Formats: sequence, C-alpha cells, structure tokens
Amino acid sequence: MLDSPSSPPPRVLRVAVPTPLRRLFDYRPCREAPPGGWQAGLRVRVPFGRRQVVGVVMECDNRSDYPLDQLRPVEAWLDAEPLPEDWLWLCRFTARYYQHSLGDTLHQAMPVLLRQGRPLAGRQREHWRALAASRDGDARLRRAPRQAELLSMLRQHPHGLPTQAIVAQGFTRDQLLSLVEKALAERHEIPLAGAAPATTQLLAEPALPLNREQATALAAIHERFDAFHPCLLHGVTGSGKTEVYLQLIEAVVARGRQALLLVPEIGLTPQTLARFRSRFRVAVVALHSGLTDNERLDAWEAVASGRAPIVIGTRSAIFVPLARPGAIIVDEEHDGSFKQQDGLRYHARDLAVARAKHHDIPLVLGSATPSLESLYHAERGNYRHLRLTRRASRYAPARLELIDLRGRQRQGGLIPPTIEAIRETLAAGHQVLVFINRRGFAPTLACHTCGWLADCDACDAHMTLHRQPPMLACHHCDKHRPVPDACPECGSADLRPLGSGTERTEETLAALFPKVPVHRIDRDSTRRRDAFEQTLGEVRRGAPCLLVGTQMLAKGHHLPHVTLVVVVNADAGLYASDFRALEHSAQLLTQVAGRAGRAAHPGRVLVQTLHTDDPHLRLLAEHGYDALAGQLLAERRAAALPPFRHLALLRLESPREEAATSLGREAASLMRQWVAEHAPDVSCLGPVPAPMERRQNRYHVHLLLSAGRRSQLHAACARLTVWLEASPEARRVRWSLDVDPQTLS
Ligand code: ADP
Ligand code: ZN
Ligand code: ZN
Repeated sequence: MLDSPSSPPPRVLRVAVPTPLRRLFDYRPCREAPPGGWQAGLRVRVPFGRRQVVGVVMECDNRSDYPLDQLRPVEAWLDAEPLPEDWLWLCRFTARYYQHSLGDTLHQAMPVLLRQGRPLAGRQREHWRALAASRDGDARLRRAPRQAELLSMLRQHPHGLPTQAIVAQGFTRDQLLSLVEKALAERHEIPLAGAAPATTQLLAEPALPLNREQATALAAIHERFDAFHPCLLHGVTGSGKTEVYLQLIEAVVARGRQALLLVPEIGLTPQTLARFRSRFRVAVVALHSGLTDNERLDAWEAVASGRAPIVIGTRSAIFVPLARPGAIIVDEEHDGSFKQQDGLRYHARDLAVARAKHHDIPLVLGSATPSLESLYHAERGNYRHLRLTRRASRYAPARLELIDLRGRQRQGGLIPPTIEAIRETLAAGHQVLVFINRRGFAPTLACHTCGWLADCDACDAHMTLHRQPPMLACHHCDKHRPVPDACPECGSADLRPLGSGTERTEETLAALFPKVPVHRIDRDSTRRRDAFEQTLGEVRRGAPCLLVGTQMLAKGHHLPHVTLVVVVNADAGLYASDFRALEHSAQLLTQVAGRAGRAAHPGRVLVQTLHTDDPHLRLLAEHGYDALAGQLLAERRAAALPPFRHLALLRLESPREEAATSLGREAASLMRQWVAEHAPDVSCLGPVPAPMERRQNRYHVHLLLSAGRRSQLHAACARLTVWLEASPEARRVRWSLDVDPQTLS
C-alpha cells in the first residue's frame, strides 16, 4: 500500500468522507504527492457534493468502478504523515462493530480541529522571535506596514510566540516567512511540556503499602505485560481500587509505556486529577468535555506522539491514539456514561476490551457494582475476577434499611421516622445526604377538582413543575410553559404539585431545619462546574449540613462527614419497564449507600419504598449487590436477554406515525425472510411502538433483533443497513441502529 516517492502514484484514492453513507468514495490524487507518498491514513481535503470536507484515505488503487477521468481530484493532503495505525484499526473496528459509516466514525473519533483540517503535528512547537538585527527593521519595512506591525509585536516577546498566537492576531504565515527571509526574525522549535518520561524518579510521592488483597490483585494484573488478560477488579467503594490503578500505572510508565484510564463523566473531578497528578512526576493528560478545541488537540497530540505517558479521560478518550500502549483501565465500568446514546452509539468499555486485546496489553475493569456483562465474563473465566472486600476505613459499607412509605404522611417526600433520623444525625454534628432522582419541584402539576395533569403537547409525558424559576418544563423535549393559575380544563384554582423533586425536598428540609445549610445538587443548581466544586468544598469542611441531590451526588465524590443517606423513593427505578432498570437502580442505590460513613463514623442508609416486600429489594438490602446481581443474571438467562443473547435495536422515527410503522413492517418482513435463510439464530421482534411513542412530536417505532451468536447478529445488521440505505422510504424516516443497546427506550 505504501507508495514510495519513486514509484508511480496510485491512480485512485479511496477516501472515507464524513457522511452517514456506509461506503468509501473514489478520488484522483492531487498533483503534489505527500512527502512519504500516498498511503492509508492520510487526511485529505476533498470536494464532496458542493462542499469541501476533510476525509481520510483508506485505500490506494489503480482501478475504480467509475471512469478515471471523471473522478474529482483530491484538493490537498493535510498531514505529511498518516494518522496512527492503531487509531485507524480502532476506527475500522468500531465502524464494523456498530454498523456505522466509516467516514463518520473517523470524523467522530478525531478532535474537532482535525475534523476542520488543522494540521496535527507540532501545533505549539513552532515559535517565532525577532532577531537582534531587527533594530533597523522598521526602516526596511516602510513599504510593508503589516510586517512592521508583526515585527514590533515579536519584539515585545523576546522568548518568541507560537504560530497559533500570531495567526490569532490576524497575521499570516507568509508575513512571518517574509520576516525570516529578510533576516529580521527566526523560526525556532520549543519542546512541548511533558517530555519523554525519565523512568527513574517517576513518583512525586510514595505509593501506599498495599494490603494483602490489593497486592494479590496487582500481582495478577502485572503477571504479564505483553498479553491480553482482562481483569475485573471488584471492590466496594473505598476498598482501594484507585490505589491499585496508581501502582499499575506506575509499573507501566516505568517500562516506558503509556496508560489510559477511562472514568465516567461525573468521575473526572479536579480531585481525581489532583490525586493522579500529585502521585506522578510525569505529565498526566486529561481529556474531557470541558477542554477547548485547542486544548483537546494538544492533549491528543501529546498522547499520540508518546510524550504524555498517562492519560485520563471520559468516554471519547477511548479514541486517543497511544504511541506505546501499556495498559487500559476502565473505572466504574458499569457506568452508563460510557455508552454514547446518539450518532455513533459505541460503548467505551467494550471498545477498551477490543483495544487491549488488539494491543496485547493488560485491561482492568474496576467497579463496586460490576455490570452483569462483566460479571458474566468473570464467571465464565473470560476475565480474571479479583476482589477487594476490605475498606481502608474502619467501617463496613452500610446496610440498606427499608422504610415503609405506605399510609404515611409525607413532607417533601419524607416520612416522620426519616425526618427524625435526620434530626438526630444533625444534632450529633454530622452531615446528611438526601438522594432523590428527580430534579424540579414536583414530577407534575394536578387539578384536584377534575384530575387534569400537566402534559407535554409534544411528548407522551408529564411536564415537571419547577419553582426556581417557576415554569412547567418537559424533560424529554425541553419545552417550557408558564405555570397556570387555574385548571385549563375546568377552571378550578385547586392545582397542586404531585410528588416531589429536589427543589421541593430542599424547601421542606430548609423549613424543618432552619439553622442548617441545605445544598441542592442537580443539573439545574450546578450549571456552572465551579458552583458544584465550591459547594463540595464547603461540605468537606465538615460542619453539619444537608445535601439534596440527584445521581450527580451518588458517584465518585468523597463526602467523609456524611453519616446518614436517605433515598426518598427507591421505586421509580425498580419498577421501570426497561430490562436493565433493576440492574441500574441496584448499582445506583449501592453507590449512594457507599457515600455514608467513609471516614471516622459508621453510616446508615434509609431507603423509603412502597414495596418493602419486593424480593429484589430485599435481596439487595439483606445480602448486597453481588447477591442481587447473581439473581438478575439467572433471570436474564431465563428471559434470553443480554449477556446471554446479543441485541441490536433499530429505532425509526417520523412526524407521521404511519411512515415509521410501515417502514418498520417492511424491514421486519425483509429481516424475517433473510434470517430464515442466512442466520437462523437471529430472531426479530416488532415493529412495536417505543415505550414513549411520541417524543418531540415525532413517532418512535422499534424493531429488535436478538441472537445467541454475534456473527449472525452482525450479518443481519449489515444486511438491514444496506437495505435501509437503499430504500426510498427510509429517506422520509429517520433511523438508527443501536448494537448492544443499553436501554430499549
Ligand atoms: P476506591 O477507588 O476503591 O474507592 P481508593 O483507592 O480511593 O478506593 O481508597 C480509599 C481510601 O483508602 C483512600 O483514601 C486511599 O488513600 C486509602 N487507601 C487505599 N489503599 C490503601 C492502603 N493500601 N493503605 C492505606 N490507605 C489506603
Ligand atoms: Zn381541573
Ligand atoms: Zn416534551
């Protein structure tokens, strides 16, 4: 495939272009070949329809299905070097696995600036500074006023300025080069921060001596550095998983390799980063949604070039190229944020497994509440099951106490015994966390005269009542309405909030405990990231207070002074229709419970429910997550659901119900015929209306494929997407295919 400068250039370049179409496009090479010749992985700018887009050369060939003279030429190549091979492999794998267009996959997997055509290499390395000889420059530049301005700017920065900063001031590279030609300025390269690691003096602070379980786990992960041997590190919150990661990373970096740590969106806090940065002397690069496009490109380049040995990132960091891959760690591997829920619907944990296997390196999946998928693999011996059962602090994780809500008067969702427990905890000088998984004041507004409920016009859903500021809002389509004074149906003024959300519980607690600060933590109260950090900082100082929040509070944050956790209502999650609802709410309850009593005091966890006899809830409360997970796995097996069978969900949506349904019917009949002949292991369910059929005034219809064998499921999906792409009807219906869907909603 490599085309050395001496051999004739290929006549056809097959380019992946950012489009949903699942195919490559043929172009002719441009006149000037890149220095290394044409090869797969080169970014190019190409005309596409009437636009100019950035694509990636995937194949070089001399033949095309089109007459060669009708092919349009590539406009220009963008990098002298192809993009890293491991990255191309990962993108190809991802596109194939998730049945997504390769062009769009590549596009999604690169930083925004690369999508826009910015060169990858040395963005900051190139600097410019004025030379001493430039004193007489002003005279010589009398007829080039812009160059004179540029020179005077450079003179103010004797250490030089990066190209980026100069261009940002409206100057061009040509102007810089003219100054260099006139010997008034010079170009120089400065090394980026975080040069290749010195393997001595790796640590800035000593590692902790490991306890026996930690040492056993680390030894098992270490066992081989050059082989894929996935490990499930299963340990309660506070059992020391992060310390194991730190020491694994240390060993990886000491061998001159790179470590990639993926964390959930909510877990990448300044505290987490600080813990890694204070341990190591070498650069720890962070990749998350809070970076600017420039910062993201720099971070990407630092990792891709191998200069940064440690990278910590959220979901999309799975796509960062590693020059010297050494280990991949996924913390809180069960977390839902690893799955992208639109466009390219990948699961970063699953890609991490594939990637570690491709590189032949250790993989660690860590969690206190592993996904049923990972437990299943551990049970079958595919993953090594490593357990950490002891907490570093004195106290065992708190048990869940089920509190019966039936027939009790509620105040902001709380019943008297719960309120009493809160009072006692505050009186003892401790903090209380009240968990309620609904933001807003109340889930909806109801008329007590006629039974009217505030529904969204565009969705099959109630609108949430908010007080700060007052409005009705739909959490599915973001529509807002003013709160009515009287019932729109019967005119009655007896409108009352139904149920409780964070705002209402906050208000109730503030009224009950006027002397204690109440902090509400949800998406509405923490629009600014620093507001969240500020509140947490105050909470960590330890004075008695009340925290009311959604799952933002459940994960990751260390709250050492909380000794009582209250779950306002366990039932919403437990009784949701989705097949993973029980698994996810058990994980969430366990994570929330893990917030209690982490430091010097034991904790209590009160779980309010209408169903104290529910067998799943009892199992969780009495025997913990692992016991429940075992039970849920048995149920999944009986119901032929993942991880025992594999799923792919086709979602169809249209403003016209009939359009979506009829395309669904056609697709189903095509699939049934096709699988009968080619993939008998695949079954096809539907089309059925989605659980929330109408959302944003569009009708949603589902078709579910399931199979015991992945190969057959993938063959069926491939057939389906080819058909949909060609179907004229599919142009009027928006469709997407979700391989390994996390939810069927
Ligand atoms: P996890 O990641 O499982 O929640 P951490 O690694 O954060 O657990 O450990 C919890 C606490 O225990 C941290 O404060 C950590 O510094 C401490 N810790 C972990 N391992 C040890 C150890 N071997 N010796 C002493 N303290 C430890
Ligand atoms: Zn009414
Ligand atoms: Zn809506």
